Order: sequence, then C-alpha cells, then structure tokens
Amino acid sequence: MSTLQIKDLHVSIEGKEILKGVNLTMNSGEVHAIMGPNGTGKSTLSSAVMGHPSYEVTSGEILLDGEDVLEMEVDERARAGLFLAMQYPSEVTGITNAEFIRSAINARREEGDELPIMKYLKQLDKTMAGLEMTEEMAERYVNEGFSGGEKKRNEILQMMMIKPKFAILDEIDSGLDIDALKIVSKGVNEMRGGEFGCMIITHYQRLLNYITPDHVHVMMNGKIALSGGPELAKRLEAEGYEGIRSELGIEL
Ligand code: ADP
Ligand code: MG
Ligand code: MG
Repeated sequence: MSTLQIKDLHVSIEGKEILKGVNLTMNSGEVHAIMGPNGTGKSTLSSAVMGHPSYEVTSGEILLDGEDVLEMEVDERARAGLFLAMQYPSEVTGITNAEFIRSAINARREEGDELPIMKYLKQLDKTMAGLEMTEEMAERYVNEGFSGGEKKRNEILQMMMIKPKFAILDEIDSGLDIDALKIVSKGVNEMRGGEFGCMIITHYQRLLNYITPDHVHVMMNGKIALSGGPELAKRLEAEGYEGIRSELGIEL
C-alpha cells in the first residue's frame, strides 16, 4: 500500500500566498474528492504536488511513502508514481500519443525491462476501445487539435496506461457531455482498488454520481475547510458553498 501525505502545505504564486496550510493524507485504494469554489487553490494544490516551477512551496511537506516529493524534479515525481490530469491539458507537437504514453510507461520501468512493443500496442488498443476513442488518435500528436472532451479522455487514457500510484484529476468533468462523463468515470472506476489512489478535483457533484468518493474535502481560501463522506458532496449540491461558508464563519 502507498500513502501520499500533504502536511501544512503553504504555496505562493508570484509572492502571493494561495495555499495556506493544506493537510491531506491519501492511501492507495481510496478516492478523495476535492471540491470548492473557483479560485480557492485546487489547481494550485495539484500543480504543487507535481512540481510546477511557478508554484513556490514556502513551507510544509509532501511525502510519498515517506519520501520527500518536494526534493524531486518533475520527471522524478512522475517516475515515483504521481500523475496529473491537467485542467487544461497541453498540446505536444511532434510526439504522437502512442510514443508519448510508451515513453512514460518505460520511464517507470527498469532499463532492459521495457514493455515489449506488441504487448504495449495491444494494451493501448484495448484501453482506447474501452474509452471509445478511435484508433487514429494514437497516431496523432498529443492533444493537437483535440476537442476539449477528447483531451480529457486522452488524459484518462494516459492514466490507465501509465498506472500511477496516485492520480490527481483536475476538473476532468469540465467540458464533457453526459456520455463522455460516463465513459471517463468507467475508466477511473476500473482503476480503483489496491494499488491506486485518486484525487478528484471538481466543482460539481455530478461527476461524483458516477465515481463515488470515499472522502470529500471542501477547500476554501487555500485550506481544507471541511471533510466528510459522499454525503458532503450532496449537501453542497443542495446548499452551494455559501451554507458551509457561513456555518464555518469563513469570509470571502
Ligand atoms: P481553483 O483551481 O480552485 O479554481 P487556482 O488554484 O487555479 O484555483 O487559483 C487560485 C488562485 O491563484 C486564484 O486567485 C488565481 O487567480 C491565482 N493564480 C493561479 N495561477 C496563477 C498564476 N500562474 N499567476 C498568478 N496567479 C495565479
Ligand atoms: Mg477553477
Ligand atoms: Mg482549477
């Protein structure tokens, strides 16, 4: 079993403090939903975990199985088993999807133990079919010309192929129609279990109807203001963030 611990994390962007002491522990096998109003620091949290250079960690710790993640370069974090499906996935010209995913998989394997190409292609085909992606998408440059929904599906494809220890899915539901939402959710649910943990960042309860989280955390003003079970997401859907804000006495 793996554990990702975030301890009293403070993060600034251009000198402005955005995260003001985030505490969160995730174990493999668990799905945690992070909800919260716009601009509260959800994407900042995911960027800080992955090591985006614009996000300065001013204090606190991130530990993966006790190892100091903040000491790792971005590629080391990926090799250690962290994965981020970005809110706004970037296009990578000149590298096909199939090449990109294969090199990401092999980067996590020992030299000489690379995944045999035929085995890889078979897995890729099968996973793409499950996500109802057309075969030609494997040979297109990463995300280039993909629609918003195709990019999101492509992030899930990468996740399913790379099999990280922990995935952070940042608004994977935004821009998805209901059919695509079901397909993406099915992919995430297939990954659930022993060796995989997942942090789902979303504004909406809707996604959580398909992926039932084990824990729900509400983030406000750069901190986790409230944690609970799936019922907390339902309450948010009914009351909005305002109810919790006034109950906890948090100012805008
Ligand atoms: P959320 O994902 O919860 O909507 P973000 O983490 O994206 O929130 O943003 C939190 C705050 O940090 C916002 O006020 C946003 O404007 C600010 N912010 C995010 N990224 C940058 C950046 N690169 N430069 C300056 N401010 C930023
Ligand atoms: Mg946002
Ligand atoms: Mg965001």
